[in-house]
Amino acid sequence: MEFFQSLYNFFTSPLFHFLLRLLGLFIILIWLSLVFWTYRDAKKRGSFAFSWATAVFFFNFFGWLIYLILRPPEYLEEVKDRELDIRTKETQLKKQGLHCPACFRPCEEDFQVCPYCFKKLKKPCPNCNRLLKLDWAVCPYCRTTL
Ligand SMILES: [Zn+2]
Ligand SMILES: [Zn+2]
Repeated sequence: MEFFQSLYNFFTSPLFHFLLRLLGLFIILIWLSLVFWTYRDAKKRGSFAFSWATAVFFFNFFGWLIYLILRPPEYLEEVKDRELDIRTKETQLKKQGLHCPACFRPCEEDFQVCPYCFKKLKKPCPNCNRLLKLDWAVCPYCRTTL
């Protein structure tokens, strides 16, 4: 009986109420930081930051979970960086002249195959032996049908 008495005393004590309030405060803090975190993360990823933050505010932890599942996989800055990277590579290739369509290494106009990866680039005309593009149906130099 004494055990229950002390238990009862504990649950009615000011200390317990204080702890309960502390716990409530803690939960509210986590909740608000989830809202804030979602807003910032969605903004960085170019998603609808305000709508997502509102969803997390109302649906709490579940809204946050749904956001984690549905959010765009990468940051906007990463996408921009990658696009910029691809563009610089493309301009570099253009400056260097012709390149192999398979391995992107430099090739000359009169190469029949890529010297790096064996990719077929051109074919010689069976009649005049001039180099033709692979998809040509007729030799434009001697009119031989291929
Ligand atoms: Zn190649
Ligand atoms: Zn020909």
